Amino acid sequence: MAPLPVLSVNNLEVVYDDVVLVLRGLSLDVPDGAIVALLGANGAGKTTLLRAVTGLLIAHRGRITKGSVRIGGTDRTGADPADVVREGVAQVMEGRRVFAEMSVEDNLRAGAHSRRRGEYREDVTRVYDLFPVLAERRRATAGYLSGGEQQMLAIGRALMARPRLLLMDEPSLGLAPRLVEQVRDIVVQINGQGTSVLLVEQNAVMALSIASYGYVLEVGKVVRDGPARELLDDEDIREFYLGST
Ligand code: ATP
Repeated sequence: MAPLPVLSVNNLEVVYDDVVLVLRGLSLDVPDGAIVALLGANGAGKTTLLRAVTGLLIAHRGRITKGSVRIGGTDRTGADPADVVREGVAQVMEGRRVFAEMSVEDNLRAGAHSRRRGEYREDVTRVYDLFPVLAERRRATAGYLSGGEQQMLAIGRALMARPRLLLMDEPSLGLAPRLVEQVRDIVVQINGQGTSVLLVEQNAVMALSIASYGYVLEVGKVVRDGPARELLDDEDIREFYLGST
């Protein structure tokens, strides 16, 4: 029997303020060990889907009105954010949110709150191995890091919880091409260490080049899905959804 998907979203409907229907029956799976790309224009509902998974919808006056979210086979529809973290789900939010006033190391420590004390050293070493630049700058104030370094720190912080599923909201946004490549390589490396990844991206070519499967979202619904290779080669997709040829 195939292992259960680490994330399974079924026929999900989400409304904001009880009136604005933003997800309209969205379904997607992240198989265990996979990188899955979620593509779509601004406002398609990508961030809303992530909020529905992490339990953060409520903080934005959003509510699931239909459908389900299963994590590792267990129904977690509308679960508390803390419970979702305990299930091994971590998120890198859009916009490289780091604690600007705190040092790099303290930012990483903040990401380790769900871990036992003894595990902390091991985890921080793993993050420094992935991002040597963070090790070099461990005592620097996070707000003074470059944009690329802050993105690495945001990813590193999420990894401190040793997630089995990492949700990434547009990690390449606003980064120079060289840094986009670096982020892409890091995602591949993280995945190689056993973490499944749901990669939300506007940079469709980057996301599809490393994902095994992709979904295209339009106005709260999946309008196309398939193996990443297929989506990448599809002229219509390139033109209409990816904004590139
Ligand atoms: P982006 O790439 O711009 O972040 P997205 O695909 O992630 O886009 P969402 O941020 O999920 O899209 O937004 C989907 C729709 O929901 C948009 O029309 C947006 O205006 C609306 N929306 C998002 N948050 C709220 C909120 N708290 N209250 C009301 N409407 C919201």
